[in-house]
Amino acid sequence: MKKNRHSRREFLSLTGAGMAGIAGGTFLGAAGSVQAQATDLKPQDAELVVFNAKVYTVDSRAPKAEGFAVKAGRFVAVGSNKDVKALTGKGTQTFDAKQMTIVPGFIDCHNHAGGNTLLYEVIVGNPFEVEFVTIASIIEKLRAKAQKTPAGEWVDGYFFDDTKVKDNRQLNVQDLDQVSKDHPVSVHHRGGHTSYYNSKALEMAGLTKNTPNSPGGTYDHEANGELNGRITDRARSVFDKVGNHETFTEEQKLKRDRDGLAYISKQFVRYGLTSVHHEGGNLFALQQVRARGELLHRVSFETSGNILEAMIANGIASGFGDEWIKFGATSEHTADGSFSERTMALSKPYEGTNPPYSGNVTETQDDLNTWIERVHRAGIQVNCHANGDVAIDMVLTAFERAQRLFPRADARPKITHCTLINDDLLRRIKASGAVPAVFTTYAYYNSDKFHFYGEERMKHSMAYRSFLDAGISAAAGSDFSPGPFAPLMGIQGMVTRTGWNGETWGANQRISVDEALQVNTINGAYNSHEEAIKGSITPGKLADFVVLADDPHTIAQDKIKDIEIVRTVTGGATVYQK
Ligand SMILES: [Zn+2]
Repeated sequence: MKKNRHSRREFLSLTGAGMAGIAGGTFLGAAGSVQAQATDLKPQDAELVVFNAKVYTVDSRAPKAEGFAVKAGRFVAVGSNKDVKALTGKGTQTFDAKQMTIVPGFIDCHNHAGGNTLLYEVIVGNPFEVEFVTIASIIEKLRAKAQKTPAGEWVDGYFFDDTKVKDNRQLNVQDLDQVSKDHPVSVHHRGGHTSYYNSKALEMAGLTKNTPNSPGGTYDHEANGELNGRITDRARSVFDKVGNHETFTEEQKLKRDRDGLAYISKQFVRYGLTSVHHEGGNLFALQQVRARGELLHRVSFETSGNILEAMIANGIASGFGDEWIKFGATSEHTADGSFSERTMALSKPYEGTNPPYSGNVTETQDDLNTWIERVHRAGIQVNCHANGDVAIDMVLTAFERAQRLFPRADARPKITHCTLINDDLLRRIKASGAVPAVFTTYAYYNSDKFHFYGEERMKHSMAYRSFLDAGISAAAGSDFSPGPFAPLMGIQGMVTRTGWNGETWGANQRISVDEALQVNTINGAYNSHEEAIKGSITPGKLADFVVLADDPHTIAQDKIKDIEIVRTVTGGATVYQK
């Protein structure tokens, strides 16, 4: 992160070198050891030659190599030390990897990319790792903010996780009263469905212990009937018009968006991500960040609202853009509730609920049918958030209908999360060519929450084994902010199904390290129809790769998440260096 400029010089900065020539001859015919294809870039006098590495290419035609050559931001040859060294010319940079492991750059297919929050707001939990915090530390951070904030203006904290608190109890209204009695104070759960408030906030919203729950949300109470400060889902809307918020000019807003995106780009490459599917965000700011040379990863831009409407109205289909910023699928169109906060729509009620609670379906089948058909007809890749089996069924039903009315080959409807499946859903996912983007870090990070579902359901949840066995291209979708995005943490969870607390859930869904690498690379590329240009270390593809200090195949499986990212390279340019 520190030396971008310097390291960019070291590994040439070749961004924007373009898609030149995906046709032409092969080079270096040494049977088996080298495969070169589909590029008319002559590999001789490569700009970068990497050798003496354990390269896992994630290309089934040649899964392992000792090195590769890069030119104009692309891999131009992949093979043995001897073969790639032969491509060294006068201006070639060389990199002796000293037997370190190199894999394709990781791809995250579902990310809310909340850079502004990380950069500008009070962060009360660890966004990136499992870390337990004290309630005292939360109070202290918010108090410091309150001291700089005019009375009556909100003081907010972010990235709280109720199961990562050292005090081993719930955060409550008394805790937040210690922050301030003059400011409304609120702490937001990283999962996005619950928040905690102080007395001032409750009072400003006119809430009392007698206020009835509002539809779609709750005002939680202590045993003695008093409000405890925790408020869920849509019940929080009572605060929308309460208190003042810091205000910004349009220019300031744009700067914050720009700075936030540049900041999160640095975080992504620090963890080895070279491509991320963004759930919306400021497209103009994104382009400015790129123009300034501060976009270090590639973006599949997933959108809704005005931009999606403009795409439909003006014939902009998925795939429009270039290899840095491209319109991908829509942003997640939500069909049900949340996995980590227990509101996803289940065919059988949650255990121990009375009256029986089966989660929230957030849209009718008719509305879903209409939305999917409209987007599908416009040549835009549909993307629906569906966690529970009921919601996944609804999404597939709507998509199957749209395909009957308007058949389009290779549409790859995206199902974000696709958490709880069964055999019939698997069959239909396969038949429709749907591409799931499944939780990644949850198996490790959220193992403390799976007792809510129980082992029988967890056997069919985040079902990577089932997807891969059925020939379904399941990809990684971290869902940051709710989940950390670190790909190696995700891979460890996919391989072990064991969480930070030592609990193992759904061990039948374990996949191998090689399969987890595929999920995090080539399957991610496939998810956005980009498998021809990224996702493996293959001649002709974009030179996006990660140098790892240890090999996830041979290190103890519970240490995979701790493997040091030594270097991250996007398009041949080093964008992060330890
Ligand atoms: Zn999401």
